[in-house]
Amino acid sequence: MSTELDAIIIGAGHNSLACACHLAKRGWKVAVYEQNAEPGGAVKSGAYTKPGFTHDWAAMNLSLFAGSAFHTENAAELAEHGLAFAPTGHPFATLFPDGRWLGISNDAALTQARVRGFSQKDGATWQQLTEDFPTQAEAIFSVLGSPMNAKALGKLGWATWRKQGAGGALDLARFLMLSPRAWLDQTFESEHVKATLAAWGMHLDFAPDIAGGAVFPYLEAMAGQAFGMVLGAGGAATMTHAMVKMFKAHGGELHLNAQVSKIEQAAGRATGIVLSDGRFARAEKAVIANVSPTALLTLTGGTGEPRHETAMKGFQHAPGTMMIHLAMDALPNWLAPELQRFAYVHLAPSMDQMARTYAQAKAGLLPDEPVIVCGQPTVMDPSRAPAGKHVLWLQVRMAPGTIKGDAAGKIKATDWDGAAKPFAKRALNILERYAPGTGAKIIAKHIVTPDMLEADNPNLIGGDQVCGSHHLHQHFMNRPARGYADGTTPIRNLYHTGAAVWPGGGTGAGPGTLLARKLAGK
Ligand SMILES: Cc1cc2nc3c(=O)[nH]c(=O)nc-3n(C[C@H](O)[C@H](O)[C@H](O)COP(=O)(O)OP(=O)(O)OC[C@H]3O[C@@H](n4cnc5c(N)ncnc54)[C@H](O)[C@@H]3O)c2cc1C
Repeated sequence: MSTELDAIIIGAGHNSLACACHLAKRGWKVAVYEQNAEPGGAVKSGAYTKPGFTHDWAAMNLSLFAGSAFHTENAAELAEHGLAFAPTGHPFATLFPDGRWLGISNDAALTQARVRGFSQKDGATWQQLTEDFPTQAEAIFSVLGSPMNAKALGKLGWATWRKQGAGGALDLARFLMLSPRAWLDQTFESEHVKATLAAWGMHLDFAPDIAGGAVFPYLEAMAGQAFGMVLGAGGAATMTHAMVKMFKAHGGELHLNAQVSKIEQAAGRATGIVLSDGRFARAEKAVIANVSPTALLTLTGGTGEPRHETAMKGFQHAPGTMMIHLAMDALPNWLAPELQRFAYVHLAPSMDQMARTYAQAKAGLLPDEPVIVCGQPTVMDPSRAPAGKHVLWLQVRMAPGTIKGDAAGKIKATDWDGAAKPFAKRALNILERYAPGTGAKIIAKHIVTPDMLEADNPNLIGGDQVCGSHHLHQHFMNRPARGYADGTTPIRNLYHTGAAVWPGGGTGAGPGTLLARKLAGK
């Protein structure tokens, strides 16, 4: 074990790796300790169904990473270490039960024409949103990429005020507080257009009526149209593998099968870690924990500051996810064949259905009609399957971590061992309705329940895929707690990173990059 380290990082999620690369590149001696046999956390790939078929265990869409500050700064070096993307100009679509569909493509005229097919008025609105997007995007991405402290926010507010005036800055603040439904109802008249966009809120826990969720459907629609979507060539793990190689090339150490069980402290300062097998390591400048807020308390035995501890104890998680990985003989025969070219097909027919699904999952019930996100990665990256075959990445949103019952009253099991198969069947039956004959094309399947996600990665509590709800009380300066959104903790030299910390979940490496810059400068 290393004894003269500058920094120790707990967990090898992509935020840890971004932070580790940044520090190691600036001469810090860094070691990362990961409990699993492989690095990557929620970004890894494997042959989970059958040899020859590569599936993304969790994250598949790497657009946030491709557009991140970390990637922008290190693109050439990461490419040298093997990072390769598989882009698509057809990021997502929603298919409706009657066979109508709306797809967002990286062609504004085409997308606008599709919107006009549902409503002329909405088509005109879409055109206006498209024209305004560069200005709005600059302001919104500045907020999402900024440290959450008074100085940075003051600078940002001033810059927005100067560019867009007082009204523009206040309108932006108001927009950031809107629920998806409030924004969509104020903006569009077609229920199909509204549902197509609202589905993006369900990737987090922004059901249509949750304040603060409008920004996700807006950004995904506009950014999807402007830039398309990016997947990892050969699997999402291309990203984390390249980061590991870059880290090691700068002298970093990665320890696998190394579960951290304790953070050592002396005189109110973090000094090192102890592993569950009794080994230990010390660091001079920083111990950085990419863990859930609850785990931070367990590893430290308490942070010693009542307000921080209360916030960590009360940190709330979003409903879970079930993943179904399918090895396929062919793509689904969608009710509309054009759907075969999109990266994601959402089966989320209305805002009311999404709101109901969320309420059921929050109440501990298996939803009667969960939202299905059907990823078709082999459309843009055929290397993931043998010639002519495919893989499907099905995300079943949402699923309760702890089951109290079934909203449809049919599944009796209240544990995931018993509920996995019938609930997966419910999801596959929905797919079958929208793409008859799909079931017959399945060669092999692998179901990953919310508790399996957590068993693999303790940060995904109850299968919560973003390590904590992003509702307003836990976002911006409140993520994970007021005063600690910059990754500091009440314990000197102990820092908190990962999806639980501002700017939160997703593959954008924001928490890790902002912390690394705070510690070692840009
Ligand atoms: C099913 C699913 C689908 C998703 N899809 C997408 C998507 O398509 N696009 C997107 O942008 N985002 C997606 N996300 C979200 C995104 O993947 C995550 O928010 C992000 O990867 C989290 O990265 P992280 O660095 O915070 O940590 P994580 O990826 O959570 O990694 C944390 C690591 O720390 C390790 N660890 C924890 N405790 C210890 C300990 N005590 N000792 C040692 N190691 C420890 C864990 O084993 C894990 O490897 C998805 C997430 C899930 C679960």
